[in-house]
Amino acid sequence: MTRRAVVVGAGFGGLAAACHLVGSGWDVEVIERLGAPGGRAGRLERNGFHFDTGPTVLTMPDLLAATFAATGGDMDDHLELTRLDPAYRACFADGSELRVRADRDAMAAEVARVCGPAEAERFDRYCDWLGRLCRLEVPSFLDRNYDHVTDLVRSLGPALGLLRLGALRRLDRVVARAFHDDRLRRLFSFQSLYAGIAPHRALGVLAVIGYMDVVAGVWAARGGMHAVATGLADALAKAGGRISYGRSVDEVVLADGDRGTVRGVRTAGDLVTADAVVVNADLPGAYGLLPGIRPPASLRRARYSPSAVVWHAGVRGRPAAGHAHHNIHFGHAWRRAFRDLDDGRRMSDPSLLVSVPTLSDPELAPPGCSVLYTLEPVPNLTGGLDWARLRATVRSELSARIQRLGYPVDTVEESLVDPVDWARQGLAAGTPFSLSHRFLQSGPFRPSNVDDRAPGLVFVGTGTVPGVGVPMVLLSGKLAAERLGPGA
Ligand SMILES: Cc1cc2nc3c(=O)[nH]c(=O)nc-3n(C[C@H](O)[C@H](O)[C@H](O)COP(=O)(O)OP(=O)(O)OC[C@H]3O[C@@H](n4cnc5c(N)ncnc54)[C@H](O)[C@@H]3O)c2cc1C
Repeated sequence: MTRRAVVVGAGFGGLAAACHLVGSGWDVEVIERLGAPGGRAGRLERNGFHFDTGPTVLTMPDLLAATFAATGGDMDDHLELTRLDPAYRACFADGSELRVRADRDAMAAEVARVCGPAEAERFDRYCDWLGRLCRLEVPSFLDRNYDHVTDLVRSLGPALGLLRLGALRRLDRVVARAFHDDRLRRLFSFQSLYAGIAPHRALGVLAVIGYMDVVAGVWAARGGMHAVATGLADALAKAGGRISYGRSVDEVVLADGDRGTVRGVRTAGDLVTADAVVVNADLPGAYGLLPGIRPPASLRRARYSPSAVVWHAGVRGRPAAGHAHHNIHFGHAWRRAFRDLDDGRRMSDPSLLVSVPTLSDPELAPPGCSVLYTLEPVPNLTGGLDWARLRATVRSELSARIQRLGYPVDTVEESLVDPVDWARQGLAAGTPFSLSHRFLQSGPFRPSNVDDRAPGLVFVGTGTVPGVGVPMVLLSGKLAAERLGPGA
């Protein structure tokens, strides 16, 4: 008999879990409280401007293709992806620029042009090293479920491999050994901030994020990142999965009241029965759906990543020639900037990501206009900043700074999202990046995707294994489905 699964939430995690479950024979229903799929990868539409409200940098399309393939579908039938070249334009505080090229030889030539031929050779060696790291780390530590910390013993061989590669040293030391030029050190280590941790605190294993975007490439979807979520939702529906929008799940129903095997979910007073429930809500919120089950210690003591302010602006005009889809503007400060975040202060000299998706897909804005997405990392709400007071200041500082950097700021439509807004969306500590990836919140130490007190219940998404970012969350969907096994 076909078993029935309810997935609570249609973020990338929930969608990926649903796709893999349908593929293994389950009868799947996704229940999403919002009016569209995507969760954090949301969409704001105003007067012909289409803003992606969450992720913008799409990496590892193979994982996405595998998610589509799990439904029996083909990604190309649902999505048009283009590899960005340059993947990023990196702008340094001394005025120099480096275009992160899609092709490795082209990138080596760019490194030679900007930083000299010796650094280009070091870049080549570092790419080889990153490739070895990725081949070891992804299957052995990221694409796997953990039942217990002692499972690490099974990974002893790969762990020794990481030790031999030097990936258990701090990330800043790894890149400092690899490169002499400070700009390349920054370029290959800033990504640890995506994982909520400064390069001098992160382990070298997080260099894998640098591999994902600087080496393996960055892609853009026609229609923006939100189109990736709608594409997955369409593939799921085509394979027989059902999604209902605008319905909030209030409780996961367990056999013995506050514990026991899952029986289904309650939404607006109705019981939807199921043999398994996959919960995609941000993890602390997910435990809120389980009255009587205390969150595990790893979650109660969790340390959260810094947050972000995002200023969305629909503007008249186009950026100056040479601007790219993704532009990173590094500040002068580096270590001090991370210390500011740790100490709960705004960075005194912030590095910014400015994405201009209309450079790849002009249809995201009315003719002659651009969509600008400016992201500044800021402390999460545990920092205690008064965002009601700060909002206007941050908005005018961001506008003035990007204007100096050559972006048009004749604003037609805009929206600013701060940590209080993230908290209103149910994201713990007001950060969209969930638990940071410090060592004790990674791999087997990260809150598990299952809880022994509720068999048949699986968590999926950023707060559980393997972690933050679209590629990791797609993997978490696969891992969630593996927990439940075949549905028929
Ligand atoms: C500003 C920003 C920039 C980012 N940049 C990048 C980037 O460039 N590249 C990258 O790879 N990653 C990036 N990320 C991270 C990435 O977006 C997330 O890791 C990922 O999208 C989160 O997916 P998720 O499935 O864990 O959660 P979510 O997307 O939050 O999905 C959870 C879903 O569950 C629903 N839900 C919750 N509770 C209930 C309930 N009770 N009933 C019904 N439904 C419920 C929610 O409405 C939501 O749709 C960024 C994130 C943000 C916000």
